[in-house]
Amino acid sequence: MIAFGPVPSRRLGKSMGINNIPLRKVCSYSCIYCQLGARQKSSTERETFYEPQTIRDSVESLLGRISPADKPDYLTFVASGEPTLDANLGKSIRLLKGFNIPIAVITNASLLSDPVVRENLMDADWVSVKVDTVTGNVWRRINRPHPSLTLNLVMEGIKRFAADFKGTLVTETMMLEGFNDNPEAIQSTSDFILQLKPSKAYIAIPTRPPAVSSVKPAGSENINMAYQIFSKKGLKTELILGFEGKNTGYTGNAENDILNISSVHPLREDAMDELLRKDNADFSTVEKLIREGKLIQLEYEDKKYYIRYYR
Ligand code: SF4
Repeated sequence: MIAFGPVPSRRLGKSMGINNIPLRKVCSYSCIYCQLGARQKSSTERETFYEPQTIRDSVESLLGRISPADKPDYLTFVASGEPTLDANLGKSIRLLKGFNIPIAVITNASLLSDPVVRENLMDADWVSVKVDTVTGNVWRRINRPHPSLTLNLVMEGIKRFAADFKGTLVTETMMLEGFNDNPEAIQSTSDFILQLKPSKAYIAIPTRPPAVSSVKPAGSENINMAYQIFSKKGLKTELILGFEGKNTGYTGNAENDILNISSVHPLREDAMDELLRKDNADFSTVEKLIREGKLIQLEYEDKKYYIRYYR
């Protein structure tokens, strides 16, 4: 199955997935948190998997079978592996443009030092690049790259792509306990991301069983710290904690609003007070959510924050 879904995606709305890598997980990385499991073919060689017309036919067929209400907001290359390993990616993107649905690509960005790969992505409308760390030994431990890759070249490639790409660029940083969740690591990662001028910087945690079972998501204190450090630098930052949260604003239902908003970003105490006031609720709602294990209170630089509890 090449085209699948559409599936609801917080970042992309209704997203029709395109798996342009037919073999079981072909990737240039072997991330310890990969949800596709440990078995894979490690490669940096681009190859032909499907003909672009085959991908187009699969998308067309699925579009013909779904109801008009399910029309996707994006056609998203989200492969069982690294989508830019597909030598036909650029052609496929151009062909799919004919559907007049924006095209998204979620890439580990490791091949962006190749000008052809950068060129292939230029026709996409939305691209997410992975930036978990900018420290070589941490990169090797988290992303376990193919031996032919070097971090300097990967970072240079990402910078060049970010400078040239006219669509929406976002970054994704997976925060892992004991790897990249200390203040120095977060500072250096966010400094690099700032140079890319992304529309949004997403901070994520693994929410499905990781390839290496001992891998743990960063704790809430460090997730909050990362959010504050990223935001202070001027990065428009959102959290991906595995909940379908949304910046819904004030709906009159304080519980739902708190859970939705605190899944996307920590609520500082003054923002929480404001939310409760607008929703005609009081602090007992917050206490109830904390008691139920759905919300956690944290402190950072003498301020209280509330974040959706995830572990
Ligand atoms: S880049 Fe993505 S597909 Fe490849 S190993 Fe990492 S998480 Fe898995």
